[in-house]
Amino acid sequence: MKAFEIRKPGDYGIIETDVPDISEEEVLVKVGYAAICHSDIDMLTGNRKHLVRYPNIAGHEFAGTVVKTGSRVLGFREGDTVACECMILCRQCPECDMGYVSCENYSELGFMQGGGFAEYCAVPARNCHRFTKMTMEQAALTEPMGNGLAIVEAAQIRPTDTVVIIGPGPIGLNAMLCARLKNPGQIIMVGTRRERLKYAQGAADALVNIREEDAKARIMELTGGKGAQVVLMCATTVSACELALEIAGQNCRIIVEGVPGETPVPVNFNDFVTKVLTIRGVAGVTSEQFRRVISLVENGYLDPLRFVTHTMALADIEKGFEMLQARDQDVVKILVKP
Ligand SMILES: [Zn+2]
Ligand SMILES: [Zn+2]
Repeated sequence: MKAFEIRKPGDYGIIETDVPDISEEEVLVKVGYAAICHSDIDMLTGNRKHLVRYPNIAGHEFAGTVVKTGSRVLGFREGDTVACECMILCRQCPECDMGYVSCENYSELGFMQGGGFAEYCAVPARNCHRFTKMTMEQAALTEPMGNGLAIVEAAQIRPTDTVVIIGPGPIGLNAMLCARLKNPGQIIMVGTRRERLKYAQGAADALVNIREEDAKARIMELTGGKGAQVVLMCATTVSACELALEIAGQNCRIIVEGVPGETPVPVNFNDFVTKVLTIRGVAGVTSEQFRRVISLVENGYLDPLRFVTHTMALADIEKGFEMLQARDQDVVKILVKP
């Protein structure tokens, strides 16, 4: 089969390799569509230092059709269409027992074992979620939409809240769609690139371009001087972190998904007490959230295809990576078809 392999940072390409064997608890999935994520680029460039193994077939956002099942697999049969969850939890260690995703025996499709940028992928049956009413393209985007949902659910949005989302990348845009479902008072999308901000039009109540206006002043104006009750940090710059703290109003929940690498950000701890702030990090998507996304998409509440700008053959995937890295094209989310 054809697959996209990353041998080591900077060394990658399409290879011809064997169809993977499956264990008795796995199914073989014929990949229908897979999506390119920024963390794939981090794996290409060597920016992702932890939870990554080389060489590996990349791709962690994908869906496909079950073509073979392991001997102990219950509940799936050939022909089932499934969205695949990339985080593999052992469900036996103390962390798993507590319901956390910080499994002591963690593995991940596309980073630590073979992923979805391939014609076929071996997937633990527990990581497969059957779908019937959405398209294969929509199903391939369950994982990144799950990231958006996870951020929003961590924020416990209330109906009158002002929700500020910093960073209109794929996760920030998905978080915006999920936040909309909570009927907040208003959603303000903050970004630096006009071509990205335009994707928030219609779902956000206001767009703020940091390069063109004083973001803090504008947000204070939009909130009657109160600031935000929820800030969803989906950008990766120090200035974005500083802005998040500056615009936080009383009782604000700041949910951190994007971080500026290892660069420290000065924080005034007084604000935590005087404004009763909460800062919470979010990583990953639980199986329950994954299933919730499928239900929301299948029932028409969310459409992850809204931000798909390109679809290409797996053979052209390197072009997709180049387009995303160049940042200057009108590109948000790219689907590849093996
Ligand atoms: Zn991803
Ligand atoms: Zn575990």
